[in-house]
Amino acid sequence: MEQPILLSTPHIGEQELKFVKEAFDTNWVAPVGPNIDAFEQEFSQVVGSKHAAALSSGTAALHLALKLAGVQPGDEVFCSTFTFIASASPITYLGAQPVFVDSDRISWNMDPNLLETALAQRDKLGKLPKAVVLVHLYGQSADIEPILQICDRYGIPLIEDAAEALGATYKNTSPGTWGQAGIFSFNGNKIITTSGGGMLVSNDGDLISKAKFLATQARDPQPHYEHTEIGFNYRLSNISAGIGRGQLAVLKDRVAARRRNFDIYRQAFGDLPGVEFMPEADFGTSTRWLSCLTFDPQTTGINREQIRLQLLEKQIETRPVWKPMHLQPVFAHCECINNGVAEDIFQKGLCLPSGSNLNNDDLERVVSEILNLYTK
Ligand SMILES: *Cc1c(COP(=O)(O)O)cnc(C)c1O
Repeated sequence: MEQPILLSTPHIGEQELKFVKEAFDTNWVAPVGPNIDAFEQEFSQVVGSKHAAALSSGTAALHLALKLAGVQPGDEVFCSTFTFIASASPITYLGAQPVFVDSDRISWNMDPNLLETALAQRDKLGKLPKAVVLVHLYGQSADIEPILQICDRYGIPLIEDAAEALGATYKNTSPGTWGQAGIFSFNGNKIITTSGGGMLVSNDGDLISKAKFLATQARDPQPHYEHTEIGFNYRLSNISAGIGRGQLAVLKDRVAARRRNFDIYRQAFGDLPGVEFMPEADFGTSTRWLSCLTFDPQTTGINREQIRLQLLEKQIETRPVWKPMHLQPVFAHCECINNGVAEDIFQKGLCLPSGSNLNNDDLERVVSEILNLYTK
């Protein structure tokens, strides 16, 4: 039996252990310590934000970002519909309601024109959302500038979910650094990992201080433990931050490896009829965190699910693209500003094995199995 080829697995190098060992040797085995401070500083430098808070997950980072944007029970928050559920679930943690916004075709991310129309309508009704969560999907930045301008016009804070977009560029900057706050994830499947963790970034130092305060049980500065607010236990450990420092040092290589996967796939079947690869918008570079493409069943004669199941039989893991949030049973009651784009991509879209640790044999196997399906 051949070895399974998985979608996206952790890719640990040689540097990580050095920082972890240092943490052991100095007994900084806690959610405080020198690796955390260094990871925050190094991360801020890489993405170009003034401040950062290392947290236990990207979801935790988004929860704090929304709380610090003042989101409260009964509020509405606009959110990209084409995403993973962690972009939307923190909205509900705060008792607020998501309203989903569909995508454009050039980036697969939130459509600025759709947002503009929706906010103009809401403004007339006197019912503006409390925040906008903008997702940068699969390593591809959304068109941030017009979206930020629209949000600014109405005084709505923009929060960027860049969990999948570390290493990407938008107009020579990092996505995640334009809004009031941005979040990143170091979950095991992301472009770099800490075995689980996240980062909140902002140019607002007060916001990050407040986030660190809330992330450590909201302890007021007293020798005894004094609390005037309810906080959370959301800090990253000094061990995990050590892994993160080692991973951050090889981020460029990881991006290059994932872009190479994508190029190999595109060369192999980019010209087949009915096949379209996820576009790369001209305002920046995608990391190609996952290599995504769509199969049009009318032209190809096979649909996405048939392809996925037949590859699974050959021990190759692929996955449908994210099912849009407005189609999720748990959000059935939520409104969606819908133009049909995310639904269409979901019907046809597949993510191929995309790890930065795939070797040439793995890639060749994926390519030849897909070509086999095609010529059958
Ligand atoms: C992974 C991910 C998150 C959540 O990050 P965790 O660290 O797993 O909590 C949020 N949004 C998107 C788009 C993601 O892909």
